Amino acid sequence: MNNVRLSSHFKLSEFLKLEKYPENIPTMQVVANLTYGCHQLLEPARLIVGPIIINSGFRNEEVNRKVGGVKNSQHLIGQAADIRPKDPAQFSKLVEFFRNLEYTDQLLTGTGWLHISWNPFAQPRHYVRVGYYKSI
Ligand SMILES: [Zn+2]
Repeated sequence: MNNVRLSSHFKLSEFLKLEKYPENIPTMQVVANLTYGCHQLLEPARLIVGPIIINSGFRNEEVNRKVGGVKNSQHLIGQAADIRPKDPAQFSKLVEFFRNLEYTDQLLTGTGWLHISWNPFAQPRHYVRVGYYKSI
């Protein structure tokens, strides 16, 4: 499962972090949702900013609790990814890109991270809450 490719540049393993959370096994629906995110949001973003580091993708209930995620987190269903921008320039480009992308459901940023979500089954909300970049 670890080597499954969801799109040309993203592997399923990047969204599961099984080395750290061996029980973090996705359903097929979760894999389908992650695949949608890779194709509609992450690959197009990568074209502009280069390689993207995924900090967190899918989280089962247990992992979500461990990392202090909110109860109804989109990470639970494979509809979100946390990105760790490599520098302020990449951060700004990602914010600019996702802000204007029709598929963006939520874009949230904080100190050294950027949360992006999508929903293949509903009209995207385009909710944007962007803080200043600070490297960690
Ligand atoms: Zn997140």
